[in-house]
Amino acid sequence: MPSSTELTALRTALRGAVLLPGDADFDAARSPWNLAIDQRPAAVVSPTDVDDLRALLDVARGSGAPLAVQPSGHGASGDLAGAIIVRMRAFDGLDIDLVSGVARIGSGVRWGAVVEALEGTGWAAPAGSSPVVSVAGYTLGGGHSWFSRTAGLGSDALRAVQILRPDGTHERIDDDSDPETMWALRGAGGTMGVVTELEIDLVRTPALWGAGLTFDVADAVTVLRAVRDLAVDAPPTLNVFTNSMRMPDAPQLPPEIRGRHFLSVQALSVDGAAESLIDGIRRAGTVQREIVGPTSPAALAAASAEPTDPTPGAGASFALAALDDATIAALIDFREQPEQWPIMGIDIRMLGGALRTPRRSGLASLAAADWLVHALVPVIPGVPAEPGAASLDGLRALLASVRAPQTVTTFLTPGQGLDLCGSVDDLRRLRALRDAADPEGILHEGRLSR
Ligand SMILES: Cc1cc2nc3c(=O)[nH]c(=O)nc-3n(C[C@H](O)[C@H](O)[C@H](O)COP(=O)(O)OP(=O)(O)OC[C@H]3O[C@@H](n4cnc5c(N)ncnc54)[C@H](O)[C@@H]3O)c2cc1C
Repeated sequence: MPSSTELTALRTALRGAVLLPGDADFDAARSPWNLAIDQRPAAVVSPTDVDDLRALLDVARGSGAPLAVQPSGHGASGDLAGAIIVRMRAFDGLDIDLVSGVARIGSGVRWGAVVEALEGTGWAAPAGSSPVVSVAGYTLGGGHSWFSRTAGLGSDALRAVQILRPDGTHERIDDDSDPETMWALRGAGGTMGVVTELEIDLVRTPALWGAGLTFDVADAVTVLRAVRDLAVDAPPTLNVFTNSMRMPDAPQLPPEIRGRHFLSVQALSVDGAAESLIDGIRRAGTVQREIVGPTSPAALAAASAEPTDPTPGAGASFALAALDDATIAALIDFREQPEQWPIMGIDIRMLGGALRTPRRSGLASLAAADWLVHALVPVIPGVPAEPGAASLDGLRALLASVRAPQTVTTFLTPGQGLDLCGSVDDLRRLRALRDAADPEGILHEGRLSR
């Protein structure tokens, strides 16, 4: 833990804002996006430029307080006692080349700004479903998007970075100049340095077409089987997400949805209308509601309806190697048990396509997985958290036998480590790279224990 003198010295060392325990805004500043996580850092700083970041390296070296780069805290894990949280909002550059489809993006920029800038250009960002997640945190953690079957993981789109290394060197690197660091940055971002800018490939989307079909839970088993069967030979131009959503039993909701359980299927084609591809899904049940037609990245972001204000929540994510009939039946049966109702939604995303053959070398990979599952439990102040945690444990147990060998960092939940995102050899390679880049432990260990 740094001394109070060392912490106060931060104010003179940095031009950017420094907030310390006892400051009026400290509690708001230390809070991550997921309000259910209580992180207790020694300081929260907002450097203005690379010189400020270099000054921070010196403070960290002198005080022993590690730096934890956390643009927004969407991926917060809660273990930052004694660390200095670094917010990157000043690194806000955004330069898009619409001819080459390459964007240079500051590491404080959030996806919403990129999606907005690309609207109507015929290019899309390989962004996740939340507009307030940072491009850096997502891309350096793997990142799975609406376009992943077409263009791979977000980390696969990473061409180059500007990085400040723990020894103070600030430079642009790519696969030619430093392939090992690039490998680590594609999935284990925070381990190698502070990234100040990313260069990424955009996704060409000449004709975006989308379909959203909603079914009652009575049809959920047959519809999920149809989605599973479609995955066998769906083209990489088609991306499919499903969502099993239990509406709260709240009096303010209309009676036709209050307390009910629906399964929706969303399909996105980057190659124009794909009616024939989703025909089997449509025929697998009685469609209660549908929206079909040309769409755009902004419309997709709006349809995702992710919360943009900090929210408390708990969840569990899994990459699955298979989705067999028995698993589908067990999953829907599980969802119908009243004691599992704390789980509000379960997303299942179809993998495969371009994810099978990454273009660039990186730790992050979903090549050996077929499905990506995320379950969400809202955390409501005053409502006990235990039933939700028990339901998530039940879901983990239910899916244990079909789990894929690895998932990606952006789908880890608090407390989980990078050991879930690579083989034993990958982790050995990563630790060796980090030890060489950061022998003094200036960067917080994050999800890779020292
Ligand atoms: C509502 C919601 C929806 C989501 N949807 C998706 C989705 O569709 N697909 C998906 O893949 N993920 C999704 N996520 C997960 C999200 O992408 C990850 O949590 C991501 O890591 C968040 O990045 P952040 O920078 O916003 O978060 P932070 O917690 O601030 O940062 C995450 C980590 O990134 C690293 N990092 C960030 N910036 C830098 C930098 N400049 N230099 C070095 N390291 C850095 C650090 O290790 C840091 O701990 C979602 C999350 C939420 C809350």
